[in-house]
Amino acid sequence: MSHPNEEAAAVKPSNFLRAIIERDLEQGGLQGRHFAGTPGDAAHHAAGPLDAAKIRTRFPPEPNGYLHIGHAKSICLNFGLARDYGGICHLRFDDTNPEKEEQEYVDAIKEMVAWLGWNWDVKDAAGQSHSHLFYASNYFDFMYRAAEYLVSAGLAYVDEQTPEEIRANRGDFSKPGVNSPFRDRTPEANLLRLQEMKDGLHADGSMILRAKIDMASPNINLRDPALYRIRRATHHNTGDQWCIYPMYTFAHPIEDALERITHSVCTLEFEDQRPFYDWLLGKLADGGLLAHPLPKQYEFGRLNLSYVVTSKRKLRQLVDEGHVTGWDDPRLPTLVGMRRRGYTPESIRNMVEATGVTKSNAWLDYSVLDGCLRADLEGKAARASAVLDPLKLKLSNWAELFGSAEHREPCSAPAHPHHPEMGLRQFSLGPEVWVEQEDFMEVPSKGYHRLFPGNKTRLKYGYVIECTGCEKDADGKVTAVLANVVPDTKSGTPGADSVKVKGVITWVGAHEAVAAELRLYDRLFTEAQPDAGEADFITALNPNSCRVVTGYLEPSLAAWPAAQQVQFERHGYFVSDRVDHRADKPVFNKITGLRDGWGK
Ligand code: ATP
Ligand code: MG
Repeated sequence: MSHPNEEAAAVKPSNFLRAIIERDLEQGGLQGRHFAGTPGDAAHHAAGPLDAAKIRTRFPPEPNGYLHIGHAKSICLNFGLARDYGGICHLRFDDTNPEKEEQEYVDAIKEMVAWLGWNWDVKDAAGQSHSHLFYASNYFDFMYRAAEYLVSAGLAYVDEQTPEEIRANRGDFSKPGVNSPFRDRTPEANLLRLQEMKDGLHADGSMILRAKIDMASPNINLRDPALYRIRRATHHNTGDQWCIYPMYTFAHPIEDALERITHSVCTLEFEDQRPFYDWLLGKLADGGLLAHPLPKQYEFGRLNLSYVVTSKRKLRQLVDEGHVTGWDDPRLPTLVGMRRRGYTPESIRNMVEATGVTKSNAWLDYSVLDGCLRADLEGKAARASAVLDPLKLKLSNWAELFGSAEHREPCSAPAHPHHPEMGLRQFSLGPEVWVEQEDFMEVPSKGYHRLFPGNKTRLKYGYVIECTGCEKDADGKVTAVLANVVPDTKSGTPGADSVKVKGVITWVGAHEAVAAELRLYDRLFTEAQPDAGEADFITALNPNSCRVVTGYLEPSLAAWPAAQQVQFERHGYFVSDRVDHRADKPVFNKITGLRDGWGK
């Protein structure tokens, strides 16, 4: 399997981002010759060796939760563009908010980016490996110096209004904002205040540092946005070194610039922030703190998956309130959940590719994702027989025909119909086998070709049998089907198909069946967009989103490893559960059916 970082750039459908990158590469000069960071800065080395002909992108998660399918879009887009255009993609933790961020999330995010197949270690021309894993918190020193510069240049001020006053004076879409009474303090006075903020002389929330732009701007993001706030909180990386923290909108453009990102790709909700992004970097370059050319921000539409929610806050609520079993619940669109459900990295990457990049938010149906999963697994998943809704079938003439009830008739089937190199699965037929409940009808409906009294069918890879009737309990419920083996009809032997039958039945020999817990998943919500309307999204949870049954599997699955996909013939794709599956207590999750069954 080729590594996606190294996959040849296949012909990809063009999109507006590719068009921009191709234009920029043609014009050249993506990277300046000199880096303007101060020697000794952590940031000074962040960019690594520069190459004017290379694009740089980044995936910048905030380590405050688990990644979901929407993040996969951003990951594959950014790493994919870097791969396709010979550039570099950074994995950068946007860890500027100490309150909600944890090491646990940092580790989980790294694991998932790697699972998707991407690599942030990049080899240079000399074969030397460079890690392009970065933390925004490593740039706190630079960010503080940038803030000091803005203050001294009269471009930022410390505002001591209360949060309520700040909110009220910001105005709204119809009303311009009102200047803060602190707006015209001298740079010297502001510098002093900023230092006091940093030195811990003021209480949390008592003042903030704001950019001085335009309180009447039609773009509310330019009405003197906040740059720094006071917050006494321990940071996962910098500990208690800081009691002031940069705001996301201030920090993010600086992170991009220090890492010499060329194309800063983000989701549409940041479109209105772009003017501030450009304002800030432009001012810092004017002051000599950054060098041209500066990064440019481009926005694309978010990816949403129908019948689930993808906001971190809502996912956390589902986990915390126990509606699901954890972040890795196979019904969740978290990447840990999707991995446990059995989706492959290839299927997720292909889905991202298939949905393209647009300027509007997209709603994707699970059927698209499932189509990508089938396309990936059809050619590589081993096949196996499994009975999900078991009914006993007794072969009445077994002992008579084979001389003993203990006789076992060896059978085999290819592990994959198109890959003989995957070998054969061996199993055997005995006097009792498990079949599906739906494979027997005492009174057949029209067009039914499976088991009913008087009808002949084939046990797949085995013999033709003729149904003779059934056994019932006191309530009239069918407890076993009865049939006779038709001699000399064993599949694969000469003349075996002289008896023509219309129905073929999957089965598992009762003497060697492996009992397994099967978790049959359905959509998590009953509404396609559970969080779109007025109602609480929790009320749209599907009470039947997980049905657990005991099924019977063929013996080739007896020692199946955990987290390994398999196709149960006629039922669909399953995976052994990566958490609960044991050789002596098998647990399989249903990934999806063999064809699109959503909405049925
Ligand atoms: P959420 O809104 O679920 O809390 P987030 O956007 O706050 O997620 P971040 O950690 O900031 O989470 O996201 C990292 C990157 O992933 C950002 O560049 C963001 O634009 C992108 N991203 C997040 N959600 C989606 C999505 N649904 N589709 C595409 N990209 C996304
Ligand atoms: Mg975000």
